[in-house]
Amino acid sequence: MTKLIDMSIATALDHLEKGTFSSRELTECYLAAIEHGGSLNAFVTATPEKALEMADAADAARKSGDAGPMCGIPLAIKDLFCTDGVKTTASSRILGEFEPAYESTVTANLWRDGAVLLGKTSLDEFAMGSSNENSYFGPVENPWRAADGASRVPGGSSGGSAAAVAANLAAGATGTDTGGSIRQPASFSGIVGMKPTYGRCSRWGTIAFASSLDQAGPLTKTVEDAAIMLGSMAGFDPMDSTSIDRPVPDYRAALTGDVKGLKIGIPKEYRLDNAPAEILNLWDQGAQWLADAGAELVDISLPHTSYALPTYYIVAPAEASSNLARYDGVRYGIREAGDDLIDMYENTRAAGFGAEVRRRILIGTYVLSAGYYDAYYLKAQKVRTLIAQDFDSAFQDVDLVLTPTAPSDAFVAGAKSNDPIEMYLNDVFTVPASLAGLPGISVPSALSDEGLPLGLQLIGRPFDEETVLRAGQVLESAAEFTHRPTEWWKENA
Ligand code: GLN
Repeated sequence: MTKLIDMSIATALDHLEKGTFSSRELTECYLAAIEHGGSLNAFVTATPEKALEMADAADAARKSGDAGPMCGIPLAIKDLFCTDGVKTTASSRILGEFEPAYESTVTANLWRDGAVLLGKTSLDEFAMGSSNENSYFGPVENPWRAADGASRVPGGSSGGSAAAVAANLAAGATGTDTGGSIRQPASFSGIVGMKPTYGRCSRWGTIAFASSLDQAGPLTKTVEDAAIMLGSMAGFDPMDSTSIDRPVPDYRAALTGDVKGLKIGIPKEYRLDNAPAEILNLWDQGAQWLADAGAELVDISLPHTSYALPTYYIVAPAEASSNLARYDGVRYGIREAGDDLIDMYENTRAAGFGAEVRRRILIGTYVLSAGYYDAYYLKAQKVRTLIAQDFDSAFQDVDLVLTPTAPSDAFVAGAKSNDPIEMYLNDVFTVPASLAGLPGISVPSALSDEGLPLGLQLIGRPFDEETVLRAGQVLESAAEFTHRPTEWWKENA
């Protein structure tokens, strides 16, 4: 069974096409793995019946010569994507038993192409967090553990999706990335995570956190799988006013393995004094791998980098406070009674939101309030423009930017939960590309001294996912990251 599921999407598609196994057989293996992997707590909801139904439909479609590019591939979906008739929680208590009456565009695209829904994965509540410890349904465990055996966080906010893929509970998974929520958990979990350009994937039907930053993307075992999955997820959608009407290229065809002559920028501002030596060494190693493959390394400067985190932690909470105003106990989700309407709102929101979400709403409301708007929100918007301009001018000279994905390996569960600033600092390398709306990928590149995965990040020009994927695959081949976590969770089955 392990053999069947420890397989890339590309390989599984080949086998499905040859008839080595059916989508139903593959899906059954993943469903069994999900059952045995319960102690990881990666899923909020498993959908075995729906999965088998969809698998049978995929098998039938393939038989009649009508197989889409993801036909029969079992996927986990972050529980931030609305799924028609399937409970959708955003890992929050406030949504209660909410069952959307519609499907998000991204998931609809995947089903159109034949993919199979295994279930919905846990996340930090409303995608706010970097460790998946902010879920109403309890923390997700990283499949990876260091020699000390202590439980590690899978990263966040797409921690359930990352853990599911890393532990072979799904062939691939969707994530969303607002400030790093695909790339950082990918780095912590030893898998590939890709955030496309803002506007590439529709946000329609994805529960909003910070609308000017939110982007969907794939979490997969390989770069090729990321290319396949993104090809299905992406596309123009008139239902999202920020969706961009550009053709979706054949991402798989972009994987030529050739980076000769590509210019790779190495931004000096990312060389943080307090970053662990192993992170900086891996960064140098990654640059060397690309140089060995024929790319040219260029030292660049992104001068406003140090303002990215404070800017993000003003803009994102501001938008969140506005987006989350809709959870008022009136139309859907839980309701806590009160003496009057205002009292009901307050009781509902106090009972329904967890601590981090309440913190963000307070910060967001504060920075948007009269008297502080200019000093904080407006200023942050201006700095955001400067950060985007830094990248614009860098991309006059280089094709890609290479950085570490995160400043550490997966930290011990609970290590940062009482210190929000410490937690926010983990986003230091991912947030700038989010503010600039740029595509980025994290590729598993080495093990840390403690034996945990570390990723490298490539950032590209707007809508140039092809170059990001192409160089990402070259990094992947050079790194030869074939490590797998020991399957301790099966002992607890
Ligand atoms: N960790 C960041 C935050 O807490 C990013 C989250 C995300 O990308 N959704 O906001």
